[in-house]
Amino acid sequence: MKAKLEEYTVKKIVDGFVYNELEGRGLFGLSGKLTIQPEYQRNYIYADGKKDVAVIDSLLKGYPLGLIYFNNITDDKFEVLDGQQRITSIGRFVTKKFAIIYNGREQLFDSLDGELQDKIMNSTLLVYHCVGEESEIKEWFKTINIAGVPINSQEERNAVYSGEFVTQAKTEFSNSNNANIQKWSAYVKGTPQRQELLEVALSWVASSKGQDIDGYMSANRRNDNINELKTYFNTVIDWASGVFSDVEKEMRGLEWGRLYETYYRNSYNPTEVSATLQRLYGDYYVKNKKGIIEYILGGEQDTKLIDVRVFDDAVKQAVFRQQTEHANTNGTSNCPLCAIGHDSNKTKIWAIKDMDADHVQAWSRGGATDISNCEMLCKTHNRAKGNR
Ligand SMILES: [Zn+2]
Repeated sequence: MKAKLEEYTVKKIVDGFVYNELEGRGLFGLSGKLTIQPEYQRNYIYADGKKDVAVIDSLLKGYPLGLIYFNNITDDKFEVLDGQQRITSIGRFVTKKFAIIYNGREQLFDSLDGELQDKIMNSTLLVYHCVGEESEIKEWFKTINIAGVPINSQEERNAVYSGEFVTQAKTEFSNSNNANIQKWSAYVKGTPQRQELLEVALSWVASSKGQDIDGYMSANRRNDNINELKTYFNTVIDWASGVFSDVEKEMRGLEWGRLYETYYRNSYNPTEVSATLQRLYGDYYVKNKKGIIEYILGGEQDTKLIDVRVFDDAVKQAVFRQQTEHANTNGTSNCPLCAIGHDSNKTKIWAIKDMDADHVQAWSRGGATDISNCEMLCKTHNRAKGNR
C-alpha cells in the first residue's frame, strides 16, 4: 500500500457537504470527489453534543485534529478510510446542524464572528491518500482505531465482508429512522448506530443454521438480498411478542433466538402466560426476574431458572429444634420421613448439618418460604423428595 500526504483546508473538504439524517446514504465532500461515509464505514456516532463540539473547539483553538486517511478509488474519487467522524462533525457544524457554546453563548456557525468562521474554514487537515488493493486496505482498516472510539466487532465485520448484503442489512438494521426500531428495542439491546441490532439479527439466523456470524456473513457476502436475515429476525420477534403480550424490561437482551429455537414447537395461551408472568413478577420468592420468561416457556418446571429464595438459617434452626424436641419425646427420628420408615434410621437423631430445609407444600404449587411451610429432612430424604 502506498500513501501520499496532502493538506486540505476545511473549506475544500466541506464543499458540497450535505448531511443526510438517514444513515448509510452517503456523505460527500471535496466538491463531490470524496465519499465521506463509504458502505464499509460505521455510522456517524459523534452527534452527542460532546465529541462533535470538541472537534470544533479544537479547530477554534488551532489544535491539530490528527491524521486523516483517504482511499484513492481513482485519481479523483476518494473514500474516507479514517476521519469520517471528524469530517462529518465539521460538515455538520458549518451546515448549522448543531451549536457550540462560545463566549458563554450558544452559537451556530453563521452566528460566529466572521473572523472565527474564517479560522474554521481555513484550518488545514492533514490527509494521507492511500493507494492499494481493496483487501489490503480493509485489512489495514481492521487494525486501526478511529479517533479514540475503538471499532467494535460488528463494525469490523461490516468492513471485512462489505458488499451488497452488508449495505442492505445496514439499511434495515442500522438505520435509526427505521420505524420498527422501537418495537425491536423491547427485545434487543444496543443501538443501530453501533451495529448492535444487526449483530443480534445476524447471530440469531446464523446460530439457527449452526453457523457463527462470520460464517454467515462470509457465505452471504455476494447475496443480493437479505430476505432470510430479515424473515428470521421478524419471526423471532413476532413469536416473542405473540407469546408474551406484556413488555417487561427484563425481556430486553434475552437470547430470543435460542429461546425461539428451543420452544417454538410448544403452544401457549397468551392470556394464561400473561397471568403467570404477572404472578411470578409479584412473587417475593422469585429472585431472578430475568429467568421468568424461560421458566414459563419451559412449562414452569425448572425452578433453577428463577432462583427461588431459600429458607434462612434462623428458620432452619428453629424448625430443627422443634422437630428434635418432638422426636426425643416420642423416641423417633427427627427426620419425619425416617420416623415413618422401617429401617434403623427410624429412631436416628440427625445433626443439623446432616439435614436440609424443605418446602412442605412445594413453592411451585403455591407453598411459601416461611417457617409454617418449612420442614427439616435428612439429606437423603430431601434429595428424594423431588419437586420442591
Ligand atoms: Zn430421613
